[in-house]
Amino acid sequence: MSATETITLAADSAETRRYNRLKRWLSVADFGVGFALLIVLLVTGWTGVLRDLAYRESRQNYTLAVFLYVVMLMLISKVISLPLDYYGFRLEHRFNLSNQRLRSWLWDECKGLGIGLALATIVVELVYTLLREEPQHWWLIAWAVFMVMMVLLAQLAPVVLFPIFYKFEPLENEELKHRLIVLSERAGTRVRGVYKWNLSEKSKKANAALTGLGATRRIILADTLLDHYSDDEIEAVLAHELGHHVHRHILKSIVVEAGVTLLGFWLANVVLRYSVEQRHLFETPSDFANLPLLILVAAALSLVLMPALNAYSRFNERQADRYCFESVPSVEPFISSMNKLSEQNLAEKTPSRWVEWLFHSHPAIARRVAAAEVWAREH
Ligand SMILES: [Zn+2]
Repeated sequence: MSATETITLAADSAETRRYNRLKRWLSVADFGVGFALLIVLLVTGWTGVLRDLAYRESRQNYTLAVFLYVVMLMLISKVISLPLDYYGFRLEHRFNLSNQRLRSWLWDECKGLGIGLALATIVVELVYTLLREEPQHWWLIAWAVFMVMMVLLAQLAPVVLFPIFYKFEPLENEELKHRLIVLSERAGTRVRGVYKWNLSEKSKKANAALTGLGATRRIILADTLLDHYSDDEIEAVLAHELGHHVHRHILKSIVVEAGVTLLGFWLANVVLRYSVEQRHLFETPSDFANLPLLILVAAALSLVLMPALNAYSRFNERQADRYCFESVPSVEPFISSMNKLSEQNLAEKTPSRWVEWLFHSHPAIARRVAAAEVWAREH
């Protein structure tokens, strides 16, 4: 990319830089607080106190005790992270990026907690049932079931999960629909639907995405984008999303995820065996007081792999951008949509190299624009 870096762009405003800096600190703090809670629970032995309480309240029923333990752990971590979450809510308002009222935000938090609790309960009950019944191969079986759940979730998310937080309706704009059909036919593929995503009731930011698997595969376009961008610009965004579809990025991401979670479950097993057999921290692997240890392994692994997974995501984004350049008549609308997006969302065009490397799932906007300009010159 070195040739493209010589192209200079207007620097980001002080406001944009401040917003992104605060957002980054917030996510680091959020992660740090969660990490610290797990370590405190393990070091102080309070995780054992919670386990005993769960056992007592469930009258020694193992499955019910596991559930109560998960509930307590999630509530404690929610209470501890709530101030940071609220700060995040205020931050969006402070930078005039949000339309969401406090009540609506609180309601979203409750729904998020409920969904999180339901999913966590399924996974944790599965893990500890297997740890009891299949102590040798629990991690392999758990991984396989976990992957089936992931695929199912990817499939259900657009029709079950997202509508819990946002309203969606089929795109009505005939002109845009026609353009998409032409784009898809040129790609020799078919996307099953384009939906308007009513983002404006909560946010002033614009967004678009390809979601779902199989029959639920669809492109979603925020109304904040549909209302403020020209048809040419929306077509460029559509072409980018179609690029993800053509290159099968969702499927590939699931395969990558499968490798990462296999490594995670294997590592969890190694750490668990060590903690029980060598260090005698827990009596048996199925003692669910060790749950914070398993979560800690998963959190540490995802932290270590984050730069690599972000690099993989940026690779996919560049591929989708290239697909867009190839399928629209001019790259100009792509460039103007990128600039509009960065202004509307206060996204940094030129984050520092290490920030991009560490945190960004998308290439810096300056780099994406530069790539479009290079492509236009060469073709
Ligand atoms: Zn993308």
